[in-house]
Amino acid sequence: EEVVHRIAAGEVVTSAAAALKELLENSIDARATKINVGVRQGGLKVLQIVDNGKGMAPEDMRMACERFATSKLQTFEDLQSITSFGFRGEALASISQVARVKIVSMVPDAVCAYSASYADGKIAGANGGQAAPKPCAGVPGTTVTVEDLFYNMPTRRSANRNASEEYRAIADIVTRYSIRYSSIAFTCKRLGDNSGSDIKSTMNATVLENIQLAFGKNLAQELLDFKFEIDGLGVSGSGLVSNANYNLTRRTFILFINGRLVDYAPLKKALDSTHSEFSPKGSHGFFYLDINMRTEDLDVNVHPTKREVRFLHGAELIESVTSAVSDRLKTSRT
Ligand code: ADP
Ligand code: MG
Repeated sequence: EEVVHRIAAGEVVTSAAAALKELLENSIDARATKINVGVRQGGLKVLQIVDNGKGMAPEDMRMACERFATSKLQTFEDLQSITSFGFRGEALASISQVARVKIVSMVPDAVCAYSASYADGKIAGANGGQAAPKPCAGVPGTTVTVEDLFYNMPTRRSANRNASEEYRAIADIVTRYSIRYSSIAFTCKRLGDNSGSDIKSTMNATVLENIQLAFGKNLAQELLDFKFEIDGLGVSGSGLVSNANYNLTRRTFILFINGRLVDYAPLKKALDSTHSEFSPKGSHGFFYLDINMRTEDLDVNVHPTKREVRFLHGAELIESVTSAVSDRLKTSRT
């Protein structure tokens, strides 16, 4: 049974970057305003995320790594109004099946923090009885440390990309989240390396300022903003597209739906072809999209930890976004 769990968990947590994305989303859900990511060996040795969010009480820490343990779904109304995809309580459980997980957490008014180590979903160190989180010094917020990812899955471990590629994938996710979440200050750094932080975002910046910080001024000053809305379907959004005459060496596509970084290949493809109608041959566009829709229109059959999404009204969405982009590129043409 344990092996079955591990195989299932390995399908959820496919890489260090996939694990990082889940941890980052938990910190965002906990309303953190500061999120610091530390990585050793591309996250395979150590993946650590420190936040100043609302923390977990010790009784919640007991359960945190058990399957379907979630604090984000209390009533049916919650299900209707929930704004995050992460309501299934599977991420920490899955990570703890394929790595050693340690959590230190403190809720704002507590006198101290608590710490617990997990293996296979359970708090480690139970001497016959039930193990409990141990009191320790700390500050409000949560630190999750994931060590030796895939230690018990040798084939997955060796199939993983090399450390620097994996680090790039992690840094890329942190960068993208730092663009969307302007009120959160993010850092991302390689631990045990004195070169400082590779990513430093500032609090209370605009999306455009964050893009400038991450991608440079040259791109930022070529971006055109647009908005769209589909009447009656509860879909609305805004975005930025690079001027058709500005040539990028490769396409960048950043899509947030209901605050989560996702992929939607059909939209990516449609935007590429819209862009090519206006731009010189072989040129690539930059697309940033922030879309909101009713949660019930998202396809629940797609696993929450998979980035590719599906939803009702996909065709209408593609039509609406591409025509907004097309209008904007048209008017900007010189
Ligand atoms: P989900 O996010 O789908 O609820 P997870 O397995 O990702 O499931 O997390 C399980 C639970 O652990 C969350 O519902 C939340 O209560 C708690 N949790 C995880 N990370 C944090 C964090 N950084 N701050 C506060 N609570 C957290
Ligand atoms: Mg989660």
